[in-house]
Amino acid sequence: GLAVTVAGLGVSGVPAARALHGLGARVTVVNGTAGERQLAEAAELEALGITVRLGDGAAAALPEGTELVVTAPGWKPSSPLFAAAAKAGVEVIGDVELAWRLRGPDAAPWLAVTGTNGKTTTTRMLAAILTAAGLRTAAVGNIGVSLLDAVLGEQTYDVLAVELSSYQLHWAPGIRPHSAAVLNLAPDHLDWHGSMAAYAADKGRVFHGNQVACVYNTADPATEKLVEEADVEEGCRAIGFTLQAPRMSELGVVDGLLVDRAFVPERRERAQELAEVSDVQPLAPHNVANALAAAALARAYGVPPAAVRDGLRAFRPDAHRIAEVAERDGVRYVDDSKATNPHAAQASLTAYEHVVWIAGGLAKGARFDELVRAAAGRLRAAVLMGADRALIREALARHAPEVPVVDLERTDTGAMSAAVTAARELAVPGDTVLLAPACASMDMFSNYNQRGEMFADAVRAALPDPAERS
Ligand code: ADP
Repeated sequence: GLAVTVAGLGVSGVPAARALHGLGARVTVVNGTAGERQLAEAAELEALGITVRLGDGAAAALPEGTELVVTAPGWKPSSPLFAAAAKAGVEVIGDVELAWRLRGPDAAPWLAVTGTNGKTTTTRMLAAILTAAGLRTAAVGNIGVSLLDAVLGEQTYDVLAVELSSYQLHWAPGIRPHSAAVLNLAPDHLDWHGSMAAYAADKGRVFHGNQVACVYNTADPATEKLVEEADVEEGCRAIGFTLQAPRMSELGVVDGLLVDRAFVPERRERAQELAEVSDVQPLAPHNVANALAAAALARAYGVPPAAVRDGLRAFRPDAHRIAEVAERDGVRYVDDSKATNPHAAQASLTAYEHVVWIAGGLAKGARFDELVRAAAGRLRAAVLMGADRALIREALARHAPEVPVVDLERTDTGAMSAAVTAARELAVPGDTVLLAPACASMDMFSNYNQRGEMFADAVRAALPDPAERS
């Protein structure tokens, strides 16, 4: 009978409204946009007896009698609806918090993953490792699978691999994961959070209440700081992951092997071998880091070493994340369209020795100096397109003036095939033509998927050869 207002439709709001209605709450959904998709979703909910109010006015006003607001993660904390809720003394939570509160007493524990980049890959690697250990599990959360559906659905799980975004964490003050990992912290979404400190604080919530392990990146002190500040259960340990030889309480790399010096019997001299570095797909340094983080969470849950190896071998990367599209005349063509910010693009650029770099799009307020400085020695050339390409061009002029730059001066979708043609002419055998835009895609494409597909199509059209890969 609780009067609940759900803010937002979509992948978060619709399952939340359905679940709350199913539990007997009196649900009203409000949503600003009223396009075709929203109207269809509204009709579906109204058919169940749920009230839906669409339009900017509806999205700003707190419905009479609201006792709880459940918001979709993307709604900015400064939205007028939340000001109205604060004034009325009404609590605001997200769907992740709701899922946490609605889970039963014997519910599956959560192994949580957050960070600026690598979340989806790490969460899927973790699910693959847990599956290889014979556990009933699923990759859920920000990955596109509703946590509410997983928590309230028919299927039972032993443990869940949960990807959490900074937005979701902002609205989830009460969750208590079994263990959690923060992969890295770089400026992103600062317009939403307001400041880097607020962004980091929201990410840090993932550690609160952890029971067994808080996993951090030894190469990124900001992640370790979040562990130090976290309020955890007694006995919970700080576990680092490193691409170097690990110290005690770390997982790392020795002689081409992923090894564990954290979850091994006491006083054991040698580290526990988990897998070969070459078991990691795709094989790039940042992805080895992701695999170590996934392994740390799995080991915290008690998974044996062999399952880490089997899980990593069974793991298949998602599309548009360092996906090799073709190799021709000694040149590799790689689609990392998901590199939507400079930190991500830097990771993939530094995985190759000689790169013809295709970049540009919407910068979202980001700066490119650090990225260009780190990658300068590897750049054969750069091909630029998109709305904010001038920012990259200027960073190249400052830090890599010797690198040839082709500025396509285009922001239309067709620019991708021109970019591939230009890159092909600049590449020499041994080079990698890498789409790692360092920017969001929406100025030219519907999303990063379309951008990556257009790159792959352009490569295949330019290289009609049996050696092409799907
Ligand atoms: P997320 O879910 O956090 O967006 P993904 O796993 O989808 O992360 O990877 C997005 C992109 O980020 C990849 O295409 C790659 O360019 C980059 N990336 C992946 N892992 C890391 C990492 N550990 N550090 C830096 N960049 C990474």
